[in-house]
Amino acid sequence: MSSTTPDQSPNALQQLIYAKDGKLTRDLLLNPGEYGLGKVPAKAKPNGTTTSVCGFCSTGCGLELHLQDGQAVNLSPAVDWPVNLGMACPKGWESLTILKSSDRATQPLLKGADGKLAPVDWDTAMRSFCDKFKAIQAQYGNDSVAFLSTGQIATEEMFFLGTLAKFGMGMLHGDGNTRQCMATAVVAYKEAFGFDAPPFTYQDFEESDVLVFVGSNLCIAHPIMWERVLRNPHNPQIIVIDPRRTETAVTATHHLPLAPKSDLTLLYTIANILIQKGWIDADYIARNTTGFEEFKASIKEYTLAKAAETCQLDADRIMAVVQAIHAGKRVSFWWTMGVNQSHQGVRTAQAIINLALMTGNIGRPGTGANSITGQCNAMGSRLFSNTTNLVGGHDFRSLEHREKIAGQLDIPVENIPTENSWSYDRIMEGIRAGEIRGLWVIATNPAHSWIHQKEAHETFDKLDFLVVQDMYHSTETAQRADLVLPAAGWGEKEGTFINSERRIGLHKKVVPAPGQALADFQIFRLAAHYWGCGSPFDQWKTPEDVFQAMKRCSSDQPCDITGIRDYRMLDDARGIQWPLAASESTGDDWMPPTQRRLFAEGKFFHADGKARFLFETPQPPGEQPHAEFPLRLLTGRGTAAQWHTQTKTSKSAVLRTLYSTTLLVDVNPEDAAKLGLEPHEEVTVESPRGSVTARVNIVASVLPGQVFLPMHNELTNRLTFPQFDTYSRQPSYKNGAVRIVKKK
Ligand code: SF4
Repeated sequence: MSSTTPDQSPNALQQLIYAKDGKLTRDLLLNPGEYGLGKVPAKAKPNGTTTSVCGFCSTGCGLELHLQDGQAVNLSPAVDWPVNLGMACPKGWESLTILKSSDRATQPLLKGADGKLAPVDWDTAMRSFCDKFKAIQAQYGNDSVAFLSTGQIATEEMFFLGTLAKFGMGMLHGDGNTRQCMATAVVAYKEAFGFDAPPFTYQDFEESDVLVFVGSNLCIAHPIMWERVLRNPHNPQIIVIDPRRTETAVTATHHLPLAPKSDLTLLYTIANILIQKGWIDADYIARNTTGFEEFKASIKEYTLAKAAETCQLDADRIMAVVQAIHAGKRVSFWWTMGVNQSHQGVRTAQAIINLALMTGNIGRPGTGANSITGQCNAMGSRLFSNTTNLVGGHDFRSLEHREKIAGQLDIPVENIPTENSWSYDRIMEGIRAGEIRGLWVIATNPAHSWIHQKEAHETFDKLDFLVVQDMYHSTETAQRADLVLPAAGWGEKEGTFINSERRIGLHKKVVPAPGQALADFQIFRLAAHYWGCGSPFDQWKTPEDVFQAMKRCSSDQPCDITGIRDYRMLDDARGIQWPLAASESTGDDWMPPTQRRLFAEGKFFHADGKARFLFETPQPPGEQPHAEFPLRLLTGRGTAAQWHTQTKTSKSAVLRTLYSTTLLVDVNPEDAAKLGLEPHEEVTVESPRGSVTARVNIVASVLPGQVFLPMHNELTNRLTFPQFDTYSRQPSYKNGAVRIVKKK
């Protein structure tokens, strides 16, 4: 790469940032007419409508945006979108409202000598950013600054960030908040299939005759996917494996309320019984998999009686589930955070994959071992963020891969690190050890969301310089920043998201960003300019330029998207699922089928074309309830109207009416009676790491000995126990020991 000294002469800066009158102008940076309302879509009339993929969750619903004088004034669900078919959840409906919040970051803020954040112009902000980070690197080495990316911004933006930070600014360490939700699924798929490749399409919700949900409260966490289940015309059996009697479990044909963290034992037992009874697809196993005999031998001790005891389940109920899986012609297995956020999440996800493989339930309509993602662009992050794998699902440690990416981006191969980044937890550890001293946090709120909050806060306090780039200046992390960079949000910029079923959808700029806020894309352009990175970053003038670079980097990979011509094609198709290689795409008007799944031919991505059976002996979690802290803490999604740290959802008055703003702790009636608790009584919930005040919600949805807190509340992570999956390094949020103390 040609690294150049930045031209910071007044004229150059003026061209980049300032209009002739000396005032900041976003339009100069945004290149109006090149993209945004100026180009996409040409069909939209100033007082017409245009479509956009939703920016909240990984479902990836299509929204119809209603324009007045070229700006969106309202929205409704898109009827012709293959994902949501005219439906939207409350969050989607409120997508425009949350942009108007009074705590939007509208200008850069820099911490002064008095320790307070004060407004500065973009020039000062970017000079401070680069000067501080360069000074830290000069003193402590290039690897002493790092970044934390996100599943919330466009794929083009995370691609720009990851390549800029690592190939332009010399960083080695960068991870994303997807570590907190999807890292387990990534590793599970890579080891089992040879690539991080969720195989399904949403049509499978409607095609199955048996659906098995493990650690997934789909009804609340992914309400539109749940609507797709409800449209299933085959009167399907619905099996829910979850310690809680969730909204999804209530409607299930079979609910197995297993003891927390006994899921691996249960899944191995189900597999063992299927094998012992001969209820497996031996032909499929022989043709398309390896490791089955070893797996079979490993699980032969997992008997029904042992599972009933370990999982605290009735043996007949387990057997009924095994029989339902056996009887199903099209069985689909779905999992999400109950599996991923576990100390043995990877092996649990692979135990689910094993079941799909051994019963031949993969690659056909209504089947699959299917991981559902969380954030709107977790899938984009998994493939293109350049954090823990090289862009396009490549490997930093492979010279062949580094040479390919260097060639596609026209940079020297020496600019590409030869080793993987530290994972998120290791970056946090590095900060505590003084190895990382500068941190750039983009569109995520770790001061709220990271496990064991007290330790997280102490960690951030150790940094020499914390840069937070966010839509809102009020997040718990932005409050701790030395520099806040105000970012545009969904609807104020353009780019693509990849949803859970691998569908790449386009979102568009339909309203202006407030004040001096800039699209993350433009902030990265500024960072590249002020750092003096040169090519290729100065060639990327629009998100679509980056999309074309992403395409090149994906060539010949399982996620090849070289057949997607441009944004127009994505827009016209209402999203396109990867892969789509150039060789498949014929002619200017050609469109791919709307629903496509992987592995129809039984060919996987390992060199031998076969999927792997994987096994490991289950281990207990690192913290168990005991005499002092006798209750087990479970955490999870509260309601369909809440989203993660509520950075966005709390800004909507409508959404706020759909959940309790008081922190409620769910307690089983038996435990409430034992402790003498009254409904709505104020109590303290304490763990060895901290305490929170909550009100008691007495419900039978949690079993005796367990309590539940919603993850959205900023207090919940005061209590969580910091343990991580060995392979994915994903935090295990759903286990910790607590006690409830009555207020005097
Ligand atoms: Fe948006 Fe997800 Fe709701 Fe669909 S389900 S409208 S993608 S938040």
